[in-house]
Amino acid sequence: MYRRLIILSIIILAALCGLLWMGYHSIRIRAQGLEGARLGEFAAVAEQIRQDVTRTLDEFMQTEQNRPYTDYQYYYVPENLAPGQQQMPVLRSPLAGRLEQGLAYGNFQIEPDGSVITPNDNVDQRQDLTESDNKLFAEASSNKKNIQDNLLPALRGTTNGSLKMSSYSGSSIEPPKEPETLQPDRFAEQAGQKAKLSQSYPIESLQSRGQKTQVIEQRRAVLEQNVISNRPAQLQAQIQELSAQAEEMTGLDQRQTASPDESQTETVQVRVEPFFPVVVPGQPAGSDSARQQAESIFGGQVFLLRHVQIEDRHFLQGFRLNEKMLSEQIEQSASRFMREGMAFELSPRKDARDDAEIAYTAILNFGFGDLVLNLREIDPGWIDREIRHLRIWYFSIIAIVLLAVTLGLASLWRSATAQIRLAQKKDDFISAVSHELRTPLTSIRMYAEMLEKNWVKSQDKAAEYYGNMRQESERLSRLIENVLDFSRIQRGRKKYAFNAGDINKCVEDVVEMMRPYAAQKGFSIRTEPGQIEQATFDSDAVTQIVVNLLDNAIKYAREAADKTITVRTRTDGKFTVIEVEDHGPGVPHRQRNKIFEQFYRPTAEATRETAGTGLGLALVKRFAEAHNGFVEIISAKPTGAIFRVALATRI
Ligand code: ADP
Repeated sequence: MYRRLIILSIIILAALCGLLWMGYHSIRIRAQGLEGARLGEFAAVAEQIRQDVTRTLDEFMQTEQNRPYTDYQYYYVPENLAPGQQQMPVLRSPLAGRLEQGLAYGNFQIEPDGSVITPNDNVDQRQDLTESDNKLFAEASSNKKNIQDNLLPALRGTTNGSLKMSSYSGSSIEPPKEPETLQPDRFAEQAGQKAKLSQSYPIESLQSRGQKTQVIEQRRAVLEQNVISNRPAQLQAQIQELSAQAEEMTGLDQRQTASPDESQTETVQVRVEPFFPVVVPGQPAGSDSARQQAESIFGGQVFLLRHVQIEDRHFLQGFRLNEKMLSEQIEQSASRFMREGMAFELSPRKDARDDAEIAYTAILNFGFGDLVLNLREIDPGWIDREIRHLRIWYFSIIAIVLLAVTLGLASLWRSATAQIRLAQKKDDFISAVSHELRTPLTSIRMYAEMLEKNWVKSQDKAAEYYGNMRQESERLSRLIENVLDFSRIQRGRKKYAFNAGDINKCVEDVVEMMRPYAAQKGFSIRTEPGQIEQATFDSDAVTQIVVNLLDNAIKYAREAADKTITVRTRTDGKFTVIEVEDHGPGVPHRQRNKIFEQFYRPTAEATRETAGTGLGLALVKRFAEAHNGFVEIISAKPTGAIFRVALATRI
């Protein structure tokens, strides 16, 4: 029994441990899942931003690519001039009057002689100059100076200091590099960030890749006007000289060589090559250069240049990338795609920092420079909080289950122990009953044999033996009565006959019946009947109660100095009380509840020496309860026990 219980307990505890372990790991996996989902969400947002920025830049570059070369000059003659028409309508460039054009700033054209012209060149020559014109002029001049001071030296060859037109396709300048695909882990190493959190998002729109050289046919008359008329008069001669020089220098370039036949034709081919980026270290000079330096994303000025060839004439056209507008564009995209609770910041790559709060770093890779888009969670602790809640819930449930299992196991152990004890008690009971039956039977047989064989000399002795035989048989019947009553009660078959009667008389009869037996054991029984009016009771049950209590008093107080047993009756409120008092050892406090249990017999020496079945007091209690009453034990003075049985006066 115990072994099975131990195995069951071990299995249940092992299952609980397994559950605990599994739950703990499930929570960890859930935490990882949430982290992964968040990372995925950030990656998706970064990809959306990339696509949006790419689309915007593509559109911008498309527009710039399609921009006629004439837009870069102050004025031009429109194409639709009718053949033979003498009057030249001269139009102002659509780029004139402003410097910012989408992501482009300060469009300019570099002439073959190295001079720079812009659509805003002659603003200062106008009659009615407004304040904004003056401002524009100042800005345009500063832009022009920037190109001359910073871009031109970067483009200029070292041999003769003049501009090599043949090399404008980008070969002498840093050629546009293959967009460098950043290795996230390399970047992470540099920036000290977690590799998994940063990823490169290539944006190739600002590079020449994918764009084609445009070849346009233009009427020679119009073209001559457009190209020549834009130059200041003093340069005309020099240009022609330089053009001849350029023709010589570029003679090897098949692409740029104009055939003699072609120069005779009415139309001229204009080749417009795709834009390519040039990053020039340093910032435009001027009052706000420090600010711009601080704001520069790509570590210098990014120019987008295209090579335009008209027969043997070569120009460079382009503009400076408006980094501020680009940043604004990216910020707009970011704020469009971010969900609630996300935040972002833009920083140049060199400023990338190790910040635990940054949930995801998208590196927008423009090929010639990177921009770091740090995405962060406004409330980064939500996953931790969620997991903490989950843990609290889980461990609370486990604690409750553990408590329930422990209680269940404890009660299983208790009931198993109780059953084992009961089985033990039953065994004891059977052996006790056997013993109890055998003792009086042996005595009776002995006396009967002596009387039968006439071994008894005197009449008095014979009378004594008969008396003993009667007492033994009474003891036998008391025992049998107890066992039978207990069995009836157990099976629910005990019937009571409650009748109104004189309880004092019933008690007196029992005392008289027991008196000889008590006297034989050296006891005297004193009765103290109280004033009791009629009570309703079962006389057999009351008889059994008094018999059992007197029997116990005689049994357990046999060593007492005072061998008086007192039997009292009285009325106490709604109860009729019967008390049996002896002056034996009494019952220790810790046993006072247990002695009324069935089969209970203390293991004390004194009890073991006394025959008994452990049924006497159990029956007294059941009978008292059948009378809606109770039984209690109190200490007698100076020693001994008083068993008080209270029976309800009316049932
Ligand atoms: P049994 O007498 O057969 O053992 P009982 O149910 O009558 O069974 O009594 C239970 C136990 O109560 C006894 O074994 C004994 O230890 C204790 N007991 C009962 N009556 C007395 C008493 N008058 N004095 C001391 N102990 C008593």
